[in-house]
Amino acid sequence: RCGFVAIVGRPNVGKSTLLNHILGQKLSITSRKPQTTRHQVLGIKTVGPVQAIYVDTPGMHEEEPRALNRYMNKAATSALIDVDVVVFVVDQTNWTAGDEMVLEKISRLKCPVILAVNKVDKLEKRESLLPHLEMLSKKRDFAEIIPLSALKEDNLEPLEQAVGRFL
Ligand code: GDP
Ligand code: MG
Repeated sequence: RCGFVAIVGRPNVGKSTLLNHILGQKLSITSRKPQTTRHQVLGIKTVGPVQAIYVDTPGMHEEEPRALNRYMNKAATSALIDVDVVVFVVDQTNWTAGDEMVLEKISRLKCPVILAVNKVDKLEKRESLLPHLEMLSKKRDFAEIIPLSALKEDNLEPLEQAVGRFL
């Protein structure tokens, strides 16, 4: 099986860190950037019979001025239509207007959206995550909600397995 995976989220939530740790540092610094029709391919990860093609979708993670933003939203959303699964990365600490904007951008997508709640290594007590996860679960019908730490490579395998189930 093989399919396209888009990692989306507001700036600074850890998208690049996550992708680097999934793909391996070396792969992701490649200077060659192959293009598909709509996406820039960031890297390909093959695990057993499953091949995940991680792509970047322009307009999903920049804060554009309003008018341009509206146009980009459309473009970005239509580019996202042909991905098989979206990984929506948020920070465990707080939900911001930036997160809300990304949620809005992906709101019309029919493909599964996996919520990756990043930076859990910063938590003093894991229990304090629970109310936050409950709040997040009401934002959308997420296919899965996975707390993880991209930096410490904690719980990345469940994320990759979840991705694989939707390819
Ligand atoms: P992006 O803008 O979404 O691509 O975010 P980056 O991957 O550039 O990460 C933004 C900052 O958050 C960097 O300083 C990262 O080191 C940090 N960061 C990313 N993932 C984690 C994590 O799991 N735990 C902690 N503590 N910091 C993280
Ligand atoms: Mg980045």
